[in-house]
Amino acid sequence: MHIFVLTYTPGIVNEYLFMVQARGIQIRENVRSIGAQVLEQVVRGAYSSNGTDYAYEYDISEPYVQTAIYLPEGFTYMPSQRCPERLPSMKGPVDVNMSEIALEEVERSLLEGDHSLASGGHWKPHDCVARWKVAILVPFRNRHEHLPILLRHLIPALQRQRIQFGFYVIEQAGNEPFNRAMLFNVGFKEAMRDLDWDCMVFHDVDHILETDRNYYGCSNMPRHFAVKLNKYYYMLPYEEFFGGVSGLTVEQFRKINGFPNAFWGWGGEDDDLWNRVKFAGYSVSRPGNMGRYMSIPHHHRGEAQFLGRYTLLRQSKERQGLDGLNNLRYTPVVSRRRLYTNITVSLSRDMAPVTGYNEDRSIS
Ligand code: UDP
Ligand code: MN
Repeated sequence: MHIFVLTYTPGIVNEYLFMVQARGIQIRENVRSIGAQVLEQVVRGAYSSNGTDYAYEYDISEPYVQTAIYLPEGFTYMPSQRCPERLPSMKGPVDVNMSEIALEEVERSLLEGDHSLASGGHWKPHDCVARWKVAILVPFRNRHEHLPILLRHLIPALQRQRIQFGFYVIEQAGNEPFNRAMLFNVGFKEAMRDLDWDCMVFHDVDHILETDRNYYGCSNMPRHFAVKLNKYYYMLPYEEFFGGVSGLTVEQFRKINGFPNAFWGWGGEDDDLWNRVKFAGYSVSRPGNMGRYMSIPHHHRGEAQFLGRYTLLRQSKERQGLDGLNNLRYTPVVSRRRLYTNITVSLSRDMAPVTGYNEDRSIS
């Protein structure tokens, strides 16, 4: 029948074809204008000045589907305006290369052709105003093969995110067990003497981010970045896990009195930080599926587990105001390197006395 019509009444067929085509155009136009509206919202959101536009991420049980929309390729932003959060330069997957490399080699390749990277690993964008000034604090002892691998991945990723940053490696000297938390407190104080940072990222040296869409700005809640680690089969080991990479604004970090100083050896200090955050009335924000990391394989070279951590964790609340930023005295040796500032500090237990508190949990 249709063939018959087609053969004998071409006028009607043409009209029909025209209608189909017209409708197609109409649909395409609709799609285009909806797209333009969405894009406008994205652009507006990108330039919004009130903090972050990652509102959808405050829910810890963020869905697996990444709904964020990134600005299109070729999008130009203005040097006088704040950098958007979801830039076209943030392509996603990072090429993770775990092979060992000399620090000088990384320096050479990062500084080559890019003269904007200043001493101390300081950098800020020049095509827009950085949304965050972030100090990256790395606790360190005897992991010389890890540091260049971290810098090789993280510096270019932060540049693509258009964040202003500086690196601080806080190196523990002396013979006491490693104290990651106390190193972070020292790093915080020294970084703030250096520059007026507004966000601190506490970063294990052996954690390599897998996507540059894991944005390293802070948020209005303390943030846990290292959500999915290859060594934990990309699952959060437990809900209160706050280890690996975390970030707090300067204000948030001061409010919780920093890290506890009393955790000597491996374990517990990150759980105590979680408690402090909760006791201060904050919740924790997470990047969901973007929080993927690979850790550089390493052995525990005879470091001691901290067995006292369970007792201290039961006393988190009572100790929060007594042990942290407010009771720490130290003498650092600071030296500026090409890609980071080195802060060497010898740690001992008498550097953070806790007064007015007995081990039997009564406060005198
Ligand atoms: N760290 C270090 N030297 C040490 C122990 C720890 O530099 O001897 C630092 C380093 O930044 C490391 C972080 O503290 O990434 C956490 O320690 P570790 O990697 O031993 O913890 P795990 O991976 O077992 O959780
Ligand atoms: Mn590790």
